[in-house]
Amino acid sequence: MRLFLALEPPPALRARLGALADLAQAQCGGRRVPDESLHLTLAFLGEVETARAETLIEWLQGEAPQGGEWRLDRWGTFRRPGIVWVGGSTPDPALAALQARLWDGLEALGHGGPPTRFVPHITLLRRARRLSIEALPPVDLTWRWRRLTLLRSFTLDDGPRYEVLARSA
Ligand code: NAP
Repeated sequence: MRLFLALEPPPALRARLGALADLAQAQCGGRRVPDESLHLTLAFLGEVETARAETLIEWLQGEAPQGGEWRLDRWGTFRRPGIVWVGGSTPDPALAALQARLWDGLEALGHGGPPTRFVPHITLLRRARRLSIEALPPVDLTWRWRRLTLLRSFTLDDGPRYEVLARSA
């Protein structure tokens, strides 16, 4: 199964992000990520066998991140997949430390190493027709995060879906 570890926005922030996704779609076209799927990926694991997924679930349930605040204040794009996202204009040390610590744990469990570059972002649109984010209004949101979620990603006819497998303590 295809797995990734992420932070899920609390409901009020999810709604604010959804409103930004609507604005972005009106401006850029493409496929809007549904509100219930909005997230920040910290570790993409790819295909994982069932037995290893069960070990991951137990491990995650024993994790208790300290939590932190992430300031979201910029729009960004990934050109090739036509992704429009929101994220932070400066590196966030708490998120970077969380990602590094997670990968230490994942590597100890036998999962591959972290990516060479970590760009924390929340994808709002995929396959955008125009990456014209300069016309979008300024973003200024704060995400108070704490719990981590292990999600399974799968594809239905109308697009990707995520299923929650476990959460940290
Ligand atoms: P996904 O590819 O499973 O990705 C889930 C999350 O992991 C997203 O936040 C994604 O970031 C991140 N991610 C994916 N690959 C990564 C990598 N190599 N390094 C770091 N982070 C990575 O699901 P999705 O993003 O919702 O879907 C994207 C496309 O994949 C869609 O076109 C969908 O149809 C397809 N898909 C394929 C499968 C499959 O089984 N082959 C399953 C699900 C989806 P971003 O938000 O930046 O992309």
